[in-house]
Amino acid sequence: MLNDKDRIFTNLYGQNDWRLAGARMRGDWNDTKAILEKGRDGIVAEMKSSSLRGRGGAGFPTGLKWSFMPKGDGPLPRYLVINGDESEPGTCKDREILRHEPHKLIESALIASFAMGAHAAYIYVRGEFYNEARHLQFAVDEAYEAGLLGKNAAGTGWDFDFYIHRGAGAYICGEETALLESLEGKKGQPRMKPPFPAGAGLYGCPTTVNNVESIAVASTILRRGGAWFAGLGRPNNTGSKLMAISGHVNTPCVFEEELGVPLKEIIEKHGGGVRGGWDNLLAVIPGGCSVPLLPKDICETVLMDYDSLRAERSGLGTACMIVMDKSTDIIKAIARFSQFFKHESCGQCTPCREGTGWMMRVMNRMVEGRAEIEEIDMLEQVTRQVEGHTICALGDAAAWPIQGLIRHFRPVMEERIQTYKRQHGGVQIQVPAGTPVVTLAAE
Ligand code: SF4
Repeated sequence: MLNDKDRIFTNLYGQNDWRLAGARMRGDWNDTKAILEKGRDGIVAEMKSSSLRGRGGAGFPTGLKWSFMPKGDGPLPRYLVINGDESEPGTCKDREILRHEPHKLIESALIASFAMGAHAAYIYVRGEFYNEARHLQFAVDEAYEAGLLGKNAAGTGWDFDFYIHRGAGAYICGEETALLESLEGKKGQPRMKPPFPAGAGLYGCPTTVNNVESIAVASTILRRGGAWFAGLGRPNNTGSKLMAISGHVNTPCVFEEELGVPLKEIIEKHGGGVRGGWDNLLAVIPGGCSVPLLPKDICETVLMDYDSLRAERSGLGTACMIVMDKSTDIIKAIARFSQFFKHESCGQCTPCREGTGWMMRVMNRMVEGRAEIEEIDMLEQVTRQVEGHTICALGDAAAWPIQGLIRHFRPVMEERIQTYKRQHGGVQIQVPAGTPVVTLAAE
């Protein structure tokens, strides 16, 4: 469990002043020049030694990502783009940084940009985050006024501008290349990769896209040292992380915790326990809604980190858990996600455009039990045909929750189908309006 002395976000709950004066008292902007004096390579090396992995969901090593930017000063400008879209259902951690720790983010953006040779950073803020964008804009204005941004930012000799861009509510704009398209004023659709953003990103220039939290922790890591951060958590799963618990717990909340702590302990300590007690737990989706759910028996022992959850064929994702107790209709819950992904598919690639709609329609029938048992396998096969066959990860995200459902709750699905057959004497398959309804005889 994380000690208070190792906490990075000390104003996570906004109990203290989030403005410049308060941020300075918490140590932000304290001799930023000394950090930049480590040099570009020194900063990247320190970030690598921290073993920080991206906090947006993919878990790619942050220092390594920074090192992909071209060396030296090329003819093109470079950009840091911060992903503040945070549209993943159940996820609400970055917004706490935006509204309560904006200066930690701005200072870290200056440091990261310097390390990558960028003189400008853009942050793409989710459109619905109105108050968060206002706080951030206020903090940016304050920083310009205090000489912390602009020419010779914070007396470092580095010119640096910070721009806020507000999105318009499309989930897919959280995908890094769709975000870049949207930032350029185009329709937010993912790009084919390669080229990767480090080669050709924003306006065709070298760009690094990082999650808000991945950037915001940089200043503290560079002040306290990569070794300090790497000493928290477990090997390859280092540091502390913002997490959240929503759903059927007694105290839903956002909190900072060390990686590698047992999920059960986290739910008990931070979430106040499952509603009705631990034995009332049905399943947990550990990170947003894009990863497979975990049933109670796995939740008993699994650790909350990238590798442990992956070993259980799920994932850390955004580390924002959705807890479901036994009152949950688990098929309906997953079908709701299928509707979400169908709605948010940008429609560029066929497996995702057609597959999300197909999966949603079958899932809707599964909720009622209006299906054949064999269709469970057919549904599973379709998820496999979508997974890994699309331009971006939305296809995978649509497939994985259904795979988790089938893996762990197949008997519930079968029972639902059999109950429907008992009650209706057959299965009615939905056909286009105007076509006579076909009734299949019960077995
Ligand atoms: Fe668009 Fe879906 Fe293809 Fe991603 S996977 S590019 S959201 S159609």
